[in-house]
Amino acid sequence: MRYIEPHAHMVSRVTDDYVHLATAGCQAVCEPAFWAGFDRSSPAGFFDYFRQLTEHEPKRAAKYGLAHFCWLCLNPKESEDVKLAEEVLALIPPFLARPGVLGIGEIGLNKNSRNELKVLERHVDLAARHDQLILVHTPHLEDKLKGTRLTLDVLRADARIRPERVIIDHVEEHTVKLVLDRGHWAGLTLYPVSKCTPARAIDILDVCGPERLWMNSACDWGESLPLAVPHTALEMRRRGWTPEQIDQVIFQNPLQFLRQCPKFKLAS
Ligand SMILES: [Zn+2]
Repeated sequence: MRYIEPHAHMVSRVTDDYVHLATAGCQAVCEPAFWAGFDRSSPAGFFDYFRQLTEHEPKRAAKYGLAHFCWLCLNPKESEDVKLAEEVLALIPPFLARPGVLGIGEIGLNKNSRNELKVLERHVDLAARHDQLILVHTPHLEDKLKGTRLTLDVLRADARIRPERVIIDHVEEHTVKLVLDRGHWAGLTLYPVSKCTPARAIDILDVCGPERLWMNSACDWGESLPLAVPHTALEMRRRGWTPEQIDQVIFQNPLQFLRQCPKFKLAS
């Protein structure tokens, strides 16, 4: 089995997890910028986090033959403070030229507030000005549908954004079609306590087909499973998917999206 883990918060994981990913057939791991579990108190906290994502984690991954990439932004949970957000956004452009940076993410909404929307628009503008791919987080609360609609409208309002260069993550049964119909890619997040179970994710793939969909573990500091993608691949096998069909979802699809950024290359 070979696969790409397109969404994992490896700064929160132990080195053993890199060993497990590599031995399960992972070819590359991609890490969106995320909330630390507590609010950072200053832009300097983000500056160091961006250094960790672009300097330290790639080296840690390389020890196990894994290519490591990242996405940069200020997480929606921290975008209530617009002044802090502006200061953090100003730190990002010099980092965009670094070798492992794929784009802007995971941006989006958490509680669908006015300030979150304002900061989302600024991130989209930043991505457009620097011709970056975008990775979007959608809310896990009961307002996922509303948050997804609001986010899609922000993206559509900016004529510079090409839909096929945007992935909307954490889709579920009631949001996946909205996202695909707008021409975006959609991410199914496999999580033991919220988001999709493997069974639900495979049901969605059965209904929607495998085009423009990928799966990820979104493993972080919470209860999550770094090997959720290969575990789900085993379940697909049990449900009659062929090895070629599974390869398309867990390897070819993320490869097709991610290589729109010329910096995305697998370790040889
Ligand atoms: Zn995430």
